[in-house]
Amino acid sequence: MASTVISRAGIGMTSPRARLRMIENLKKQGIKDPQVLAAMDAVPRHVFVEEAFESRAYEDTPLPIGHGQTISSPYIVALTCELARGGGTLERVLEIGGGCGYQAAVLARLAAKVVSMERIAALIGKARLTLRELRINNVLFKNADGTLGYPDGGPYDAIVVAAAMPFIPDELKAQLKPGGRLVAPVGMGEVQHLVVVEARERGFTEREMEAVKFVPLLPGVG
Ligand code: SAH
Repeated sequence: MASTVISRAGIGMTSPRARLRMIENLKKQGIKDPQVLAAMDAVPRHVFVEEAFESRAYEDTPLPIGHGQTISSPYIVALTCELARGGGTLERVLEIGGGCGYQAAVLARLAAKVVSMERIAALIGKARLTLRELRINNVLFKNADGTLGYPDGGPYDAIVVAAAMPFIPDELKAQLKPGGRLVAPVGMGEVQHLVVVEARERGFTEREMEAVKFVPLLPGVG
């Protein structure tokens, strides 16, 4: 049974050894959560990128996935997963900006159920196929503008936003369970910071983390 995804796996720069090097780099960069590291080790990043970039799939860099979009770097995926998990257990997770589905596949190993919203239909079609080939079936992809989240699938233990927003809408925060966390790049243009919002029994706390560079959140479906 040789599907396209599986048959491309397993040699040279895309081998499990390349993935292990990526994990060692993530540890050096400060990623500590063993479950996040295990999830990153389990998901083959090279099957999510365009074929021309496969050999670079385990480098710590964003890569093109078509339609002017990129797959986030391994470090950013690991960091946002670690911050979203906060060492706790995750039942429901919402991802906004699903792209090629890579982070959704990593989150699927950390949570019981993932909803991933993506505004570009072609990307979501490909993401669905890739996850099917990897036999990951706890991700629901929604082709929609995710700016205001997806209340029907919530409340969530974590919300991960993969595109930069000028501010975090209250409607999104309202979809967190008490104790739940939202991780989003906030800022306009080149100046963005990763922000972690945590829902308390009453109200929210907010922490500003490191400077980051994400593609902008865009309105509507494309
Ligand atoms: N998590 C992705 C990263 C994709 S880059 C991965 O693992 O590859 C960010 C994605 O956000 C792009 O695919 C872009 O189309 C999408 N996006 C931008 N604005 C959006 C919006 N309002 N709603 C849903 N998706 C959006």
